[in-house]
Amino acid sequence: MKYISTRGDRTLRGFSDILLEGLAPDGGLYLPTHYPQVDAAQLSRWRGLAYAELAFEILSLFIDDIPPADLKRLCDATYTEAVFGTREITPLKPLEDGLVLEALSNGPTLAFKDMAMQLLGNLFEYELARRGEQLNILGATSGDTGSAAEYAMRGKQGVRVFMLSPHGRMSPFQQAQMFSLQDANIHNIAIQGVFDDCQDIVKAVSNDLDFKRRYRIGTVNSINWARLLAQVVYYFAGYFQATKSNEELVSFAVPSGNFGNICAGHVARCMGLPIRRLVLATNENDVLDEFFRTGHYRVRGTAETWETSSPSMDISKASNFERFVFDLVQRDGARTQALFGEAIALRGGFSVSPDEQARIASFGFVSGKSTHADRLATIRATWQASGVLIDTHTADGLKVAREHREPGVPMLVLETALPAKFAATIEEALGFAPEVPEALRGIESLPRRCEVMKADVGAVKRHIERHCTA
Ligand SMILES: *Cc1c(COP(=O)(O)O)cnc(C)c1O
Repeated sequence: MKYISTRGDRTLRGFSDILLEGLAPDGGLYLPTHYPQVDAAQLSRWRGLAYAELAFEILSLFIDDIPPADLKRLCDATYTEAVFGTREITPLKPLEDGLVLEALSNGPTLAFKDMAMQLLGNLFEYELARRGEQLNILGATSGDTGSAAEYAMRGKQGVRVFMLSPHGRMSPFQQAQMFSLQDANIHNIAIQGVFDDCQDIVKAVSNDLDFKRRYRIGTVNSINWARLLAQVVYYFAGYFQATKSNEELVSFAVPSGNFGNICAGHVARCMGLPIRRLVLATNENDVLDEFFRTGHYRVRGTAETWETSSPSMDISKASNFERFVFDLVQRDGARTQALFGEAIALRGGFSVSPDEQARIASFGFVSGKSTHADRLATIRATWQASGVLIDTHTADGLKVAREHREPGVPMLVLETALPAKFAATIEEALGFAPEVPEALRGIESLPRRCEVMKADVGAVKRHIERHCTA
């Protein structure tokens, strides 16, 4: 399998070549040249496999430059009951009326990002050892991504993590999760500023090509193809648990921000997994809901990006969305370049043509939006009807899932975080605080490793230099 860019560069690259990369050189995102097709016989062979085995089978269709025995070992080491809490790894929890939660958030940081990031940590360590190289991951986080990356990379050979976060602005639980890590290769930097200041520093450092090369700076953001690929697996795993035969269809509802999670569902559907609908749910930051309803994509500015009680979906543009649009315009790289490389830069957005808009339905997408009041009501109703406590992001997914339910088609709602991470809103909805899982109880009182710094690019660079030569 080879990979190409969404913006017209058709140079063929192997999986290992793009594993450690961010954007393609032409500014596009990487996608496989085609989606491998899975027929009913193949689905039948996969039904009943353990999660790690299923992961190996699916990844093997997209990765041909890692020896199978090595890839198998990496999958086995990643998807274990010890790390993800259950033998199923992503167990289903039935709610009422044909609605089912698929639990993706029982990994080390209690959010679905662990599903992909844990594999990425093992893939990075493997590939860097094979090349005899090192990588310094520089990132900015306002919560889930940073902690998922740190828990995946902690103690890994050849990798250091420098993670910037806005000083004093993450939830106390999120701060404790990151800052209590004592591993020597993890460096927390709290920047005196807001999230955008952190992101600007990451951009400035990455734009200094000489520095970037000298210190081997890389990223782990959600446009990384390996992260997306790892997420394809749990659509298959959810389907096999929810059905008895390959004639049955299911729908998935996905709380969405940067379009990474649901894009993996799009890939699974294109491979032939019998998915009827992909239900995209946004919060008040409804860039994507607007697109799927109107065919008009308008990037928001900072002043129009709301801070909500489902903060991991607070986005102004959806960084993975370009992958879907590339498929929507029938893989026309010049057209994708005109939309993402030009129209967004010049006009802040674009509208797809009527023909293209008509094609959206053939990809199974529908959408909806959810507000703070909807989250509170959904958390309350679910607790009362089923005795299941859900987090704020999952509540957005469930609210929109109800609007698109169809008789006879199970609707799997992806649970993207545990309620313990967003205790304040749970208290507001129910009047009591959610339980914190055993392994994380008391982390607020552990010793912390974190450097507080001014929002200054030079200071951050010197910090990286010091720790790379040491
Ligand atoms: C990151 C995240 C999302 C959004 O996922 P995307 O892949 O960006 O669409 C939703 N919920 C939670 C809890 C998250 O951490």
